[in-house]
Amino acid sequence: MRNTQEEINKLLNEIACEYNVKKLQSKPNKTTCKKPPKPGAAQGNCPFEGAMVALGPITDAVHLVHGPVGCTRNPWGSRGSLSSSSELYQMGFSTDLSENEIIFGGEKKLEKSILHIAQRYNPAAIFVYSTCVTALIGDDIESVCKKATNQVGIPVVYINAPGFLGSKNLGNRIAGEALLDYVVGTAEPEFTTPFDINIIGDYNVAGEIWNILPLLQKLGIRVLSKITGDARYQEICYAHRAKLNVVICSNVSLKMAQTMQERYGIPYIEESFFGIENMNSCLRNIAAAFGDQYLQERTEWLIAEETAALDIALAPYRSQLQGKRIVLYSGGVKSWSVILAAKDLGMKVVATSDRKNTQDEKVKIKELLGQDGMVLAKGGPKALLQVIEDMNADILVAGASNQYTAIKARIPFLDINHERHHAYAGYAGMVEMAREFYEALYSPVWKQVRQPAPWE
Ligand code: SF4
Repeated sequence: MRNTQEEINKLLNEIACEYNVKKLQSKPNKTTCKKPPKPGAAQGNCPFEGAMVALGPITDAVHLVHGPVGCTRNPWGSRGSLSSSSELYQMGFSTDLSENEIIFGGEKKLEKSILHIAQRYNPAAIFVYSTCVTALIGDDIESVCKKATNQVGIPVVYINAPGFLGSKNLGNRIAGEALLDYVVGTAEPEFTTPFDINIIGDYNVAGEIWNILPLLQKLGIRVLSKITGDARYQEICYAHRAKLNVVICSNVSLKMAQTMQERYGIPYIEESFFGIENMNSCLRNIAAAFGDQYLQERTEWLIAEETAALDIALAPYRSQLQGKRIVLYSGGVKSWSVILAAKDLGMKVVATSDRKNTQDEKVKIKELLGQDGMVLAKGGPKALLQVIEDMNADILVAGASNQYTAIKARIPFLDINHERHHAYAGYAGMVEMAREFYEALYSPVWKQVRQPAPWE
């Protein structure tokens, strides 16, 4: 992808969002989604990292960072995406540019690295990421990748998302665009079925997709391509043969789904795997999208069976969790779907943030929170501590970097972001979530922590 301002605007411009479409109709030159980076302000992780996060879970590929070794460390291992086969994606590869290459160019080193990787590791593909330094010194990475593809006989895909372009979300979108341009549609599956779907925007954090696949399998629905949690490179190549795209993280994946609809005529639905209600409606919506009566009946049987078993498994937790108040500080699909999951357990989200959400999601968040709920205008420890106190919260649910804020407020903490070690998706994930809430809230440590200090 050429990163002209026009291309970047196209990526940031969310035409799948109803709110934005209306805005576009009235003011064609103004969109709600174009947020250029603010000079001098940290953008909350860079596009390079966003692209790595989106493509990193492709397990049998090598992810080669063309730049200083420090860039490689930035996203490496920060997301707990699990693999059921190859572990190649877990290795960090970098061209480790020195001053010499920064002055005289890094193309030769990149070419040498690709040849070495192909020979030594035999990956299904190599993704080559540009970084701020290699973009600024003007390395022609695209040409090197094209030449290397012919030399090594495996796809060498260029990801043009240097850090200075903008936000992490933009990097996610660039990654999706690269998959559409260079990967999707380059191979054919051995066979197709009438119920082939793709799952877009799930990264198999803590193995969550493994809670979902058995359910779909029971219904006779085949997941043709997982984009990209626990994916093999090959399965993404034939994603264009699916009959339906199921989008999980709508903020960054809608664009990809929409382009696939335009190019291949694949319809898409936006869903969440968190919470019983969300999971039920996800399965129902998939079945409804196929319009097959027998599939819809099977889905209802499965939902009845799963929810009955879940009621028994959750009963001891529900009685303990009833009425507990949550401050939720997350982004994207979790901002609203965890509200529903908490409701399923008898808990109440009293405040949440709507950062990184589409306008449609923001409306949904307000509805779910009700009149008493609070939408956090900004994060940061000071603001969170205040909200915890004002809302009389029992627990903070957020990303790992906020756990010290919870400790300062002397309340328990649950990690919901990509570093989490527990799979909360699907029906099985609800039991896991209930157990984690219970263990966090009823840990004996809180009794001690909340006692006055001896000198007070
Ligand atoms: S690409 Fe740029 S912003 Fe991103 S980690 Fe590397 S130097 Fe930092």
